[in-house]
Amino acid sequence: MEYRPGKALLTAEEIAKRVQELAGVISREYQGRDLLLVCILKGAAVFWADLSRQISIPHESDFVALSSYGNATESSREIKFEYDLSTNITGRDVLIIEDIVDTGHTIKCLKEALEARGPKSLKICALLDKAERREAKVTLDYIGFIIPNEFVVGYGLDFAQKYRHLPYIAVLVSP
Ligand code: 5GP
Repeated sequence: MEYRPGKALLTAEEIAKRVQELAGVISREYQGRDLLLVCILKGAAVFWADLSRQISIPHESDFVALSSYGNATESSREIKFEYDLSTNITGRDVLIIEDIVDTGHTIKCLKEALEARGPKSLKICALLDKAERREAKVTLDYIGFIIPNEFVVGYGLDFAQKYRHLPYIAVLVSP
């Protein structure tokens, strides 16, 4: 059975508008602070690139890569750093940029790992929130969209490494 993206759940225009709104809020709240965006590769790369360019205050960015889904549509409860930050985050205002929070285990594990490094503040910005799937207790500070329990692709999100390039977000469907 071959899976493919169905019609857009969120259009490029809807995403762009929301990203601009989030960037506005973040720019106001982090004004005069030492903001460091931590982008979770690969899925959040497209969101981070658009968000960072809309944030109007000075800030830096760094990247982590965590092992997660592989080719399956099931979540993993463990994370491993495939690639770690090159920045010392002690005393800095860190904002994690995530594409999608599903069960919440990934982001909770990452938050705990970064918290141990002593940032001044540590918050989470997620483009998509599958709120009804949450298992781990974790607070998302900035949320783009709450979406239903469907597997989505596009705008950085993949299925078996495909479809990240789509400018919109679509539900994966079988023919
Ligand atoms: P969690 O630990 O919250 O269950 O899973 C988070 C990770 O699972 C995300 O960073 C993402 O890599 C992957 N994921 C969860 N739901 C989806 C989805 O609908 N589409 C895609 N492409 N990845 C997902």
